[in-house]
Amino acid sequence: MTDSGIGKKTVRDIDVNGKRVLVRADLNVPLENSLVADDTRIRESLPTIRYLLDHGARVIVCSHLGRPKGHDESLSLAPVAGRMGNLLGREVLFVEDCIGREVEQAVREMSPSHVLLLENLRFHPQEEKNDPEFARELAANADVFVNDAFGAAHRAHASTEGVTHFLPAVAGFLMEKEVRYLETLVANPPKPFAAVVGGAKVSTKIPAIQHLLPKLDMLLVGGGMANTFLKASGVNVQMSLVEDDLVTKAAEIMAAAESRGVRVYLPEDVVAAERFAADSPTETVPVAQVPRGYMILDIGPKTVRAYGDALQGAKAVVWNGPMGVFEMEKFSHGSFDLARAIARLNATTVVGGGETAAVVAQAGLEKQFTHVSTGGGASLEMLEGRELPGVASLADA
Ligand code: AMP
Repeated sequence: MTDSGIGKKTVRDIDVNGKRVLVRADLNVPLENSLVADDTRIRESLPTIRYLLDHGARVIVCSHLGRPKGHDESLSLAPVAGRMGNLLGREVLFVEDCIGREVEQAVREMSPSHVLLLENLRFHPQEEKNDPEFARELAANADVFVNDAFGAAHRAHASTEGVTHFLPAVAGFLMEKEVRYLETLVANPPKPFAAVVGGAKVSTKIPAIQHLLPKLDMLLVGGGMANTFLKASGVNVQMSLVEDDLVTKAAEIMAAAESRGVRVYLPEDVVAAERFAADSPTETVPVAQVPRGYMILDIGPKTVRAYGDALQGAKAVVWNGPMGVFEMEKFSHGSFDLARAIARLNATTVVGGGETAAVVAQAGLEKQFTHVSTGGGASLEMLEGRELPGVASLADA
């Protein structure tokens, strides 16, 4: 057996020749007018699919797309089949359901050189309910299950957990890569180790901060969540987004960090706006001088420089959450400038998925980071030290 480093069997550990292999991929791509607007997730799913094809498997791919309430043609995976076919250089057949007779027939008739993509799993509400009968039906058309959908691994759904009760289940290459990077980083980070956390709310990041704290040397805080920390430090953040019920918690985290020798960095200057709008008047000011009635929507240039300088000494950096409302140009500079600073570091640099991955992609810096996760919620749960159901349910190595 090859050592995957994640304690789980992978596609390398099983014989797939002549087998029907059900691959759970994360093909939850953005669509615009029924066209694939960003094919990153399709590309990330290809190494596993190619490997299986090269080893004589009949490959059946399934995924969810969006949050449909029942059958919703605008969230069909049909456009993904076309793009996947182009990228693979093979025909990708599409079936308009993910269970039942139609699928059974398509699998029976498929040639080993083709790939079969099933329709959006979430057209069946049983998928998210992890309904055992639905999982059994999904498994019925395959001999082996491969989970490569890291982005959905934090959910115990029929296609990520339920199906493993009916088929031998192993990890795909993307799953293996994601888990290995995130697990190793948290378990055994090169030191000094820094966490850069941002995003809208501190509430969603507290479990990760608490889990990481004992390993950290530096904690750099930005985004909307920094406001709660600033308020806890006595700063008047005016109309900024604050979670008032967590001001005490933020103070406790700063005290815990100090007692462990973890240096906490908060913004020293910010871009403040009159309104939450792309065309709002703005002022770049020291944190103590946010104009009355204004709200903080980005970190300022002095803060970017200070954070960049602090990170110079780091050997590992994990970044989760943008530094400001990067979707609006006026409040995007903190996130983009810091992304460039982190990209230049001579360190292991790991980006949690979701919005932070979007910042890195928009800045064109993906290749300059050690690892950019494809899963937002899943990567955050790994940083919290939680076991993901989609990983735990795979066969042990
Ligand atoms: P999260 O998913 O928690 O990482 O949050 C990402 C979102 O946080 C982005 O959509 C940003 O627009 C938002 N955000 C970042 N900074 C701020 C801020 N200062 N005020 C309000 N929202 C923010």
